[in-house]
Amino acid sequence: MTTTLFKQAEEKNRTALLKQQIINLCIQGGGTSISELSKALMVSVPTVTKFLGELIDEGFVYDFGKQENAGGRQPNIYGLNPHAGYFIGVELRKKTVQMAAINFKAQVVANREEPYLVSEDSMESIDRLCGVIRSFIARQKLPAEKILAIGVSISGRVNPESGYSYSYFFVEEQPLVQLLEERLGHRVYIENDTRAATYGEYMSGVGNNEKTMLYINASWGLGLGMILDGKLFYGKSGFSGEYGHFPMFDNEVICRCGKRGCLETGVSGSAVHRIFLERLAQGRISMLSDKFRSGAALSLDDILDAVLKEDVLAIEIMESVGHKLGKALAGLINMFNPELIVLGGTLATTRDYLMLPVKSAINKYSLRMVSKDTQIKFSRLGENAGVVGACLLARGKSLHLL
Ligand SMILES: [Zn+2]
Repeated sequence: MTTTLFKQAEEKNRTALLKQQIINLCIQGGGTSISELSKALMVSVPTVTKFLGELIDEGFVYDFGKQENAGGRQPNIYGLNPHAGYFIGVELRKKTVQMAAINFKAQVVANREEPYLVSEDSMESIDRLCGVIRSFIARQKLPAEKILAIGVSISGRVNPESGYSYSYFFVEEQPLVQLLEERLGHRVYIENDTRAATYGEYMSGVGNNEKTMLYINASWGLGLGMILDGKLFYGKSGFSGEYGHFPMFDNEVICRCGKRGCLETGVSGSAVHRIFLERLAQGRISMLSDKFRSGAALSLDDILDAVLKEDVLAIEIMESVGHKLGKALAGLINMFNPELIVLGGTLATTRDYLMLPVKSAINKYSLRMVSKDTQIKFSRLGENAGVVGACLLARGKSLHLL
């Protein structure tokens, strides 16, 4: 009796696994035929036909019929049903929350930014955030049962396994995931912002099936996301990628983490901002000098804008920061031998002003034999990388594809 039950359970797991694999192959390939699926999964054609039939009945897969091709035989092509379900992505930013929805095929069907500020009182902040998410969902007029999961991207320390976020919304008694699920009535996954952006670029951005990809989030801070052997790398507790706090410089600058000389103190938007203000205070001239003298606050965006308007001081600082970033990346290249490094975050909006010094320093400091394999590209999704990544993570995790 026990053996029979065990066998039944095993069969159930095998069925679920095969269906997940079929969905995964449809995600990777777009459209696929029964014989391609049979070959890729190493199972018989009748078995594939049976499970494909079930997935079609369940509404996850479409039969697109016979497609024209060069050869004589025209197999039926199967692919994901875009309307099988929707996934919501939420990214918390400094003063706003960005929300997007994708369909089952990962096409973005909505993308919207709303004002939102995290206040000190965590529970009040969580309630308010859920209100903003609920009204976004209501506006899309998507049936509740079609929303399969919500992914939330948050900066700082996030443990996706335990569901706790430590830098924002930390409530000791209950994991954030549970608090959100109770209020939203949907399955919720949380993720660190850089890792969400990494996954977004990997699945729907500049990534092109590379097995090893590093994503650099050069914004106010400096984050690193890693795809190693085709999978997001988390580390034991989901805290991997705290590259900005790599002890690098022998300087006297206190990092926001409380330590001294972190990489972020020389390579990040906050470093660009601090150095720019220091230079102005020392009497250097810039197109922002008047604003500085007037006592008005200068933002990082003001400085990045000045770079694009060819302000010499702003360009000099960006070059110097880019050079240090390239040197730091040379270390990562020597360590990981990556196929692709993606430059993302707000500093990447300065394009060649960042890319050229980065490449020059990589050439100078990395081992040529290792770095010749590495392509350096800008993020394709730009400021949407995080929110699209949060949607895709919700899809990947709820379908057990990750
Ligand atoms: Zn630090």
